[in-house]
Amino acid sequence: MTPSDATAPGDPDPDCVFCRIVAGEIPSERVHEDEQVIAFHDLSPQAPVHLLVVPRTHLRDVRELSADPELLAHVTTVAGRLTGTRGGDFRLIFNTGASAGQTVFHVHAHVLAGGELAEGAL
Ligand code: AMP
Ligand code: ZN
Repeated sequence: MTPSDATAPGDPDPDCVFCRIVAGEIPSERVHEDEQVIAFHDLSPQAPVHLLVVPRTHLRDVRELSADPELLAHVTTVAGRLTGTRGGDFRLIFNTGASAGQTVFHVHAHVLAGGELAEGAL
């Protein structure tokens, strides 16, 4: 492998479903987009409102996202703004690692809101 073949952290991964959603190759029901993140409805909602806030860069999980505190803060800020117009209170979840329920290894914040949220949802 030559150096030019190497992928740098954050480079799009052609096999990653969220990189493909970011690129517009897979459709999603977007509710927000800016230069750093997109947000869209989860395909399999676990609450009356279930959004995903996804950085455009391919970072594996919230541990990698934490290396960029500004981007992490932007993810949480967008989550708060989106729920502000959808009922107020919300639960923010970063499943981190397969045994914690992470199935898509491109970091995303689950934003759950609306009604009474069950303990332990997700
Ligand atoms: P996690 O299990 O924490 O990695 O969350 C992945 C989430 O992505 C799940 O809640 C899925 O329902 C959701 N998901 C997977 N594919 C899509 C898609 N194409 N559009 C919207 N949500 C998706
Ligand atoms: Zn990705």
